[in-house]
Amino acid sequence: MRTDTIGRAILKGKGAARARAGHPWIYRSDVAEAEGGAGDVVRVTDRAGRLLGRAFYNPQSEITLRIVTREDEETDEAWFRARIQKALAYREGLKIDADAYRLVHSEADGLPGLVVDRYGAYLVLQIGSAAVERRLDWVLPALQDGLAPTGILLRGDAASRRREGLEVGIRVLAGEVPDLVVAREGRVRYEARLKTGQKTGSFLDQRENHEAAARYVEGAENVLDVFSYAGGFALHAAQVAKGVEAVDSSGGALDAARRNAEINGLENLTFTRASAFDLLRERSDRGERYDAVILDPPAFAKSRREAPRATRAYKEINLRAMKLLAPGGILVTCSCSYHFSRELMEDTLRSAAADAGRTMRIREWRGQASDHPEVLTVPETRYLKCAILERG
Ligand code: SAH
Repeated sequence: MRTDTIGRAILKGKGAARARAGHPWIYRSDVAEAEGGAGDVVRVTDRAGRLLGRAFYNPQSEITLRIVTREDEETDEAWFRARIQKALAYREGLKIDADAYRLVHSEADGLPGLVVDRYGAYLVLQIGSAAVERRLDWVLPALQDGLAPTGILLRGDAASRRREGLEVGIRVLAGEVPDLVVAREGRVRYEARLKTGQKTGSFLDQRENHEAAARYVEGAENVLDVFSYAGGFALHAAQVAKGVEAVDSSGGALDAARRNAEINGLENLTFTRASAFDLLRERSDRGERYDAVILDPPAFAKSRREAPRATRAYKEINLRAMKLLAPGGILVTCSCSYHFSRELMEDTLRSAAADAGRTMRIREWRGQASDHPEVLTVPETRYLKCAILERG
């Protein structure tokens, strides 16, 4: 097993307080001194020399340090392997009824900047830190020994990689990876485009919400799945509801949803290409009624600055959706914007219900699937919210 070189970093008071509070991200402005190169592991102390842990270092990144351990331990090959094995064991324990799910979830698995998603026999990696990228020859064997995948793909197309000084692009790291894989999520099978689809090919963080939503639409006459993408919610709902309409502004997404309906032998789905805002407004103005409406928009707030505008957009679609519900109807409403917090979402839904003149009972508040765990002291790991409400 190979060992690692070690640099050092000293934090200012604010950075040290943040590290002690359990947040792994230390910004450049909170670092007093640092020695090392991009991707090195550094020993981190406060100004008095007290140990705070060890961190991935990248002087090019705004998040200059990512603390990986609070101990003074070697982060050698065996350490990486142990973290990966622990992450795999956690998923094993979840007894996931699917063959596509997240195996490693970055900070939440103690491996900042490493995401590993499984799609059947294939693995898709997203790497957002120079330290992980440099140690790929440690990471890949650990994954191969644990899982024996047919192929491993790096989805390195996120623009954020540039901020870490990493090359942007998609490449096969091991074996062979086809453009298209058929994955299974509970009762549903779907095509995932690992090289070109959104994220690593699908919205794996919604897996448990897809299944939860289906529990509420048993026997529903009509379900409207807005922002459907390849039919994540629609395909599950269509197993138990009489009719489901999938709405998306992207023709490509609807083509994928149509093929997925075929793969599952479902004939009770329709597909509508439209802007969600226009469609919801027109149909609520016409007084149409649905037994269930599902809203899963893209992140309207990508930064704190965008939160006010995003709030107006979330309110608009939720208000319209509430108006569209028949008495007893179900609203499944999601937000994946970290900057649109659970509290802000609750306020926004309250104000939408008030303006829609609807009494809405809360059936469930949900988050991202349990293979995408949240860390209590790292609020950024909690981003996906999903409320299930019932019109009273
Ligand atoms: N519900 C999906 C994921 C949705 S991703 C699942 O569970 O798998 C968000 C989707 O919203 C994308 O497919 C995107 O094409 C679509 N979209 C974005 N803006 C839109 C708009 N204004 N109107 C309709 N669809 C939109």
